[in-house]
Amino acid sequence: MVDRFSSVTREDMMTLARIVGENNILFDDADRLAPYSRDESGSGHSAKPDIVVKPQNTDQISRLAEYCNRRHIPLTPRGAGSGLAGGAIPLFGGVVLSFEKMSAILEIDTENMVAVVEPGVVTNDLCLRVAEDGLFYAGYPMSVQSSFIGGNVACNAGGAKVIKYGATDAHVLGLEVVLASGEVLQLGGKRRKDSSGYSLLRLMVGSEGTLGLITKIFLRLIPQPGPTADLLVPFATTEDAVAAVPRAIMASQSMPVAIEFMDGASLRHAMAYTGNVVSQVDDAEAYLIIQVEAAGKESLLDTYRPVGEACMEAGALEVFVADNPWASEKIWSIRRNCLEALRVIDPTVEGGDFVVPSTEIPTMMRFIRGMAQKYRAEIPCAGHVADGNIHPHPLKPNDRTDAQWEVQRRQLLTEIALKAVELGGAVSGEHGVGFLKNDILAQSKRDELRVMKAIKDALDPHGILNPGKLFRLGEHKAE
Ligand SMILES: Cc1cc2nc3c(=O)[nH]c(=O)nc-3n(C[C@H](O)[C@H](O)[C@H](O)COP(=O)(O)OP(=O)(O)OC[C@H]3O[C@@H](n4cnc5c(N)ncnc54)[C@H](O)[C@@H]3O)c2cc1C
Repeated sequence: MVDRFSSVTREDMMTLARIVGENNILFDDADRLAPYSRDESGSGHSAKPDIVVKPQNTDQISRLAEYCNRRHIPLTPRGAGSGLAGGAIPLFGGVVLSFEKMSAILEIDTENMVAVVEPGVVTNDLCLRVAEDGLFYAGYPMSVQSSFIGGNVACNAGGAKVIKYGATDAHVLGLEVVLASGEVLQLGGKRRKDSSGYSLLRLMVGSEGTLGLITKIFLRLIPQPGPTADLLVPFATTEDAVAAVPRAIMASQSMPVAIEFMDGASLRHAMAYTGNVVSQVDDAEAYLIIQVEAAGKESLLDTYRPVGEACMEAGALEVFVADNPWASEKIWSIRRNCLEALRVIDPTVEGGDFVVPSTEIPTMMRFIRGMAQKYRAEIPCAGHVADGNIHPHPLKPNDRTDAQWEVQRRQLLTEIALKAVELGGAVSGEHGVGFLKNDILAQSKRDELRVMKAIKDALDPHGILNPGKLFRLGEHKAE
């Protein structure tokens, strides 16, 4: 424990148990605390909490925050733990606040087209519930079946549909947030716009649990879109695939819903993992998955045909069409399972999350190929190419020890992220900074970081909220 923080004593434990109820804490039980010491960022990263608390309402959270603030006990919020940046790992022990017992869908307001939810709702549960009313929540990430809405908001999660519908921030209309002091703020609500002063709402989205605890969320819904079709399009080179993206967009009658990228290696690994087989072309270096939406079934063919034709004109080797849910799901299960497939090969695999202007993707892919040679390692890549957001996944070579590779992988991912920054990009497009990228953030956003730290100090003067995330410990005044 760092000097400036207090450990959780037995007396603290008893106070916390009085706040949330004895059945809603885990203490002195290494086996049950263990799952709260890690997330999905890779098996090498973990830190044990002193205690896990599972509050059930905002009042309890306000009292928890006020107590931890007074006692200088670190407080790390946790959603489903599906994060890939180590955000939910309690680096300095203390309290992990799990939102798992706050999983109610409070209201589906069909007139205003707004959902009001607690942060522990599994994202897919919301998608299924609103579909019953003919509505659609478009902000979901690829981890839709496991992540919580609160975690999505805290990371400003992206996903496959960002080019048409935007990332999570485009869907958040309101938040209830508990500050470190215990004060409860109501930000936004069911209204669709607001030009009244600084947007504290936007500030909280993507703040990764470092500025406040999100206890209620108002989400924008839209009518269920029409039928979709998916095109799986192989290209001889990555450059050809990337060059086809703007042409496919321009050829579509409305914006495509998704344009995803997988290199040949990612596709093959994910096919082997899922057991799903899709049509391939020998020697294709890169694949695009393009999803289009039509107004109705009768116009589906007319919607995807010009997109397929534009791809062929741009040098595609073939266009495979999936125009029924079964065929589409085969393609998307392969795309969704890229990371899990690589974990079978390298259980410690960790990915990058850089974002660049999409025209810079070919330069980045050449740079990554150079890194693969320099480090003599395979680096499968997949991502949201139309957003300029790619996930490189360096795999541990057999001739390196775990310790050697840990150092080399960090260097390699840092070099890639800094190259993206040099090209007008950023270190994270959707997964957040957590603690795995805070060094790179410090190197890439110097002036902005100064202002970010001032905001952190103003809202969390003792630095108890998720310490060590976004900023290294000791970097801002409070730490
Ligand atoms: C297979 C796989 C696919 C993925 N695909 C995507 C994708 O397409 N797009 C994408 O963006 N991400 C993706 N992710 C990453 C991850 O699922 C997202 O970052 C997700 O939003 C995290 O949600 P969570 O509930 O698991 O949050 P956690 O991992 O539990 O926490 C993430 C961060 O949010 C904070 N936090 C959580 N809840 C709250 C709250 N209520 N108040 C304040 N802070 C809070 C935590 O402290 C932490 O900093 C993927 C992950 C996996 C494993």
